[in-house]
Amino acid sequence: MDKLNREQRRRCMAAIKSKDTKPELIVRKFLFKKGFRYRLNLNRLPGHPDIVLKKYRTVIFVNGCFWHGHDCKFASIPKSNIQFWKYKILRNQERDKLTIQKLANMGWNSITVWECQLKNNVRTDTLNALEHTLNSIFLMNNKKYNLKQNQLKIAAEEQVEYN
Ligand SMILES: [Zn+2]
Repeated sequence: MDKLNREQRRRCMAAIKSKDTKPELIVRKFLFKKGFRYRLNLNRLPGHPDIVLKKYRTVIFVNGCFWHGHDCKFASIPKSNIQFWKYKILRNQERDKLTIQKLANMGWNSITVWECQLKNNVRTDTLNALEHTLNSIFLMNNKKYNLKQNQLKIAAEEQVEYN
């Protein structure tokens, strides 16, 4: 027996769909093809990031332009209930900012990919830029590590006593 009425079913379907939105899939498929390994929706982290790359200490948010208030033509506010939408979107923007700040405090880099940046005509550029950014982050993290190692070596040498 189907106990959901039409509206309930619609909402339910929408909720399921939002877990695997197409733009997120595009990013995931690209990353996988390029050899990046990631985890999905890690609930322990603030903001439940869509994609988590532990090795890169980086999370990726794939944001819908409307809901997250991107400054682009795909984010135009509906003509009715303007105040309601403005308030809702502003709240989302503030929450996003706070989430990124919290993640930064925990040592995580956050990358936001906007839905409009994954449209056919700009998709390749966006994904290449994403790959480039991830590689830069990896190098930067490793450089810091190597530097520490070198400093340790130097410190150790200075302590050597010559008789
Ligand atoms: Zn946008």
